[in-house]
Amino acid sequence: MTNGIVDLPQYTWRPLPGTRPQIIPTQLIAHTAVSNASSLYGWFNSPTAKGTDAHTYIRADGTAEQYRAANTQANANGTANRWWDRDNGVFRGAFSVETWDGRDPEHTPWTPQQITTLRDTALWLNRVYRIPLEICPGPYDPGIAWHSLYPGWSPGRHTCPGALRITQFHDELLPAITTAATTQIGDITVPTNPTFGDIANFVETCFTRAANPDPKGRTYWTVVIAEAVNPLVPMRTMANQLGLI
Ligand SMILES: [Zn+2]
Repeated sequence: MTNGIVDLPQYTWRPLPGTRPQIIPTQLIAHTAVSNASSLYGWFNSPTAKGTDAHTYIRADGTAEQYRAANTQANANGTANRWWDRDNGVFRGAFSVETWDGRDPEHTPWTPQQITTLRDTALWLNRVYRIPLEICPGPYDPGIAWHSLYPGWSPGRHTCPGALRITQFHDELLPAITTAATTQIGDITVPTNPTFGDIANFVETCFTRAANPDPKGRTYWTVVIAEAVNPLVPMRTMANQLGLI
């Protein structure tokens, strides 16, 4: 889980040679490859690529190859490839995702299968590295984004991934991520992969709504839910026992 290899069914691990500096993946940055190829391995592995590469490439059918571990640097996004987080004393970087476009991104939207794999990749990064599922507020802030969002990410002033796909990012990808990332328990919306803080907030909200003053019960359920393989199961049980659903 922490070796940086995406363990989604769409993915094949196909590492490029050579080692790269470590990063904590902090952003997902989506690209378009301007390519009709079924793989970018040969291109990234050739001298003409001059050391540029991406972590992954998503084909039209939604299958994907991964070329670099998520916790190592790839060279696709200028200043977002790797930067020093002085406050926490760690190097951070973007997880870069290239996508097939039939060599014509201005007229070729992401396919539904590509949107699904982009969504699942974002959810994987959220689950494993706690990357927030919102657009990066700044060039060094965590989140998800596209290549041309910040000038420093594309020193060549690319328009990548193009107007059509940036519109899809807002209108299709973000809603798909939000739908998959949250679930309803009664009328309370919770993250599908809750953090400890999310769990504590949910327990507190439920006990307050049920007007249940039992402080031991709150502690008990917080521990049980936090230790569960699927926290949503005991969350539902607790809400049910409190009479909320
Ligand atoms: Zn790009």
